[in-house]
Amino acid sequence: MTKYIFVTGGVVSGLGKGITASSVALLLKSRGYKVFMQKFDPYFNVDPGTMNPIQHGEVFVTYDGCETDLDLGHYERFIDEELNYSSNITSGKIFKSVIDKERHGDYLGATVQMIPHITNEIKNKVYEAGHSSGADIVITEIGGTVGDIESQPFIEALRQIQYERGSSETFFIHCTLIPYIFGSNELKTKPTQNSVRDLRNMGIRPDALVCRAPYNTGDHIKEKLSLFCSVPKEHVIDSIDVNNIYEIPINYYEQKIDEIILKQFGLPIKRADLSDWKNLIKTVNNLDKEIEIALVGKYVELHDAYISVAESLKHAGYKYNTKININWIDSEKLEDDKVNLKEVFKNSKGILVPGGFGTRGINGKIKAITYARTNDIPFLGICLGMQLAVIEFARNVCGIKDANSTEFDANTKEPIIDLMADQKSVVNMGGTLRLGNYECAITKNTLAYKDYNSEKILERHRHRYEFNNKYMKLLESKGMVFSGVNEKADLVEIIELPKLKHFIASQFHPEFRSRPLKPAPLFDSFIKASIENK
Ligand code: GLN
Repeated sequence: MTKYIFVTGGVVSGLGKGITASSVALLLKSRGYKVFMQKFDPYFNVDPGTMNPIQHGEVFVTYDGCETDLDLGHYERFIDEELNYSSNITSGKIFKSVIDKERHGDYLGATVQMIPHITNEIKNKVYEAGHSSGADIVITEIGGTVGDIESQPFIEALRQIQYERGSSETFFIHCTLIPYIFGSNELKTKPTQNSVRDLRNMGIRPDALVCRAPYNTGDHIKEKLSLFCSVPKEHVIDSIDVNNIYEIPINYYEQKIDEIILKQFGLPIKRADLSDWKNLIKTVNNLDKEIEIALVGKYVELHDAYISVAESLKHAGYKYNTKININWIDSEKLEDDKVNLKEVFKNSKGILVPGGFGTRGINGKIKAITYARTNDIPFLGICLGMQLAVIEFARNVCGIKDANSTEFDANTKEPIIDLMADQKSVVNMGGTLRLGNYECAITKNTLAYKDYNSEKILERHRHRYEFNNKYMKLLESKGMVFSGVNEKADLVEIIELPKLKHFIASQFHPEFRSRPLKPAPLFDSFIKASIENK
């Protein structure tokens, strides 16, 4: 029988609900339970794929090609499990499915309503995740904060689940804020009381509170919250600000949140094996070197837009005991001829150009790539970063002055990057990119082979445009090596310039598979080369 944990949030957004959900999942997994994770996002986009990253941060992609909220990235990095299509459900998905069923005639003459039709659809997504994953425990995080109009159908569905399944099969964690008020110099519980009252008004009784606070709250606060919120004192868990997010599971472990949950579920409390995780924290807190890596993107004002890339850089850094400082560079600003690139990259030991869409900032990224190539600075290009590395090489080394992508100039004479044939007829923008896992065959005796040590790999994709194979011979004759290809569809996956110390780029996104204890191979070798770049 699957058990269900729900994580809601109150008071303010950005409390780290996703990290709380991930941490609880990690602890339960460490005690031998199979866990699955899910996020509900109350917005009406069917998925975040059509959203500007400045609005919502990175779009994370699962192996089966679902474009999801960035919290899924945290989940995968913490629990080291591949999540899937049932892991990210939006209001858009729920309403679309209900309306499709109505048009199909599935409701047999009924008036279609918020309750029970929308709420049943939501409940089905929860139960489906349990059935399809075969997990012992499913953890579902609800986006937004309690009280938002948009999240009400979700909260109502959870109320029904709590009533149907009872407390031996469900556990509700409510994350809130305990602010410190300067002047009165104390921690305040009122916002938490109010937020729990809001939740109870909607019929849900939380089983535990996770309280974000600047320091541990102490007995007095816990007793007060216990009294006002009807939660046992031991179920009030402190979530204090930490130096690195990997410490959070251990903080919760010390407060026995996993034991409290398992006790309520009537499940045996098996011994927790957290040794790898504890070693990771030791490593992260004792890094003895540091280097700067330049990340040249167009959404850099919101670091969350590149969160998996930034995390992957850190993971590779851990392996070499090195702290990675990111030099966030707005590619558009590099376009000004007055900008001195030498000055911009002065301290950067490596240059990374990540993925992106649209024309803004393209020329700045190309300038950064020229700088990396001509100064032999370790370079890693990802997706758009690979496409631009190819364009740069075609223009500046092969003399194809007009080399371009049809994404930036639909009528370019030299479409080095072009739409795949099956993309040319696409009308809808949402969900129609080349998404998720595709195979890549790697040529022996290349940097890519050295990195992966395998002739066949699987990596995740999210793009519409591709390298145009017509130009392959010419680029090869000038020294570019096409070291990874998708053989089935005849598509380029990895390029490199072996004459340089370290210059490699991939059409896929290696950042989605990097883990704190298992850095992605392309990040691993990039960081190693950057450390060696004196
Ligand atoms: N805009 C490019 C494409 O659609 C690259 C996408 C990306 O970097 N994720 O192919």
